[in-house]
Amino acid sequence: MSLSDIHARIAQSASRAGREAQDVALIAVSKVQPNARTESVLKEGHRVFGENTVQEAAGKWPQFRETYNHIDLHLIGPLQTNKARQAMQLAQAIHTLDRPKLAKTIARLAQELGQCPDLFVQVNTGEEPQKAGVLPRDADAFIADARALDLPIKGLMCIPPVSEEPALHFALLAKIAERNDLKGLSMGMSSDFETAIALGATHVRVGSAIFGDRVYE
Ligand SMILES: *Cc1c(COP(=O)(O)O)cnc(C)c1O
Repeated sequence: MSLSDIHARIAQSASRAGREAQDVALIAVSKVQPNARTESVLKEGHRVFGENTVQEAAGKWPQFRETYNHIDLHLIGPLQTNKARQAMQLAQAIHTLDRPKLAKTIARLAQELGQCPDLFVQVNTGEEPQKAGVLPRDADAFIADARALDLPIKGLMCIPPVSEEPALHFALLAKIAERNDLKGLSMGMSSDFETAIALGATHVRVGSAIFGDRVYE
């Protein structure tokens, strides 16, 4: 599907929800995609991208930045503490703040570097044991602690369980954000971004619908 098709679908879902399309950022998730595909999306003028790992991001985005200005890079995968510094130097946003140790490390590095990416707290809305994220019942306290560390918390992020109705999870995330006075909602992927927009998503993370299927080798 073309980038303009995705933009049209975003505009349509936003309008149906009485929202402005410009209030929904499209993060083009370029993880695992061949650089040629990513570059063609850059050539179309798109600048907001998402990567899952620091290693992959570090392997391609510094080079792309030599050619293309104003790239807005979002890290959307689990972040190890020992990769936090590199992540903060590469990315404008980290969507996976999910534990106190990582919050403390980022706070210390923010002091040292004099900068900090926008942060989203990942919430494990499905309470899946294998999935990262703070549990819904722990979210309020976690957000308060992160704010006490002066971290720039912009919103919340979730990845609904594959076999469940995503709308329930998006609604839960929106509820937690609202009671914590957070505006950002990073939710919705290729298969469900329109549902996410209906429920308030401000950042949709769309990979395969833009780039085609990921080919893992
Ligand atoms: C890979 C990934 C996406 C994009 O998934 P698609 O189904 O290809 O749109 C979105 N969010 C996260 C956290 C991902 O890891």
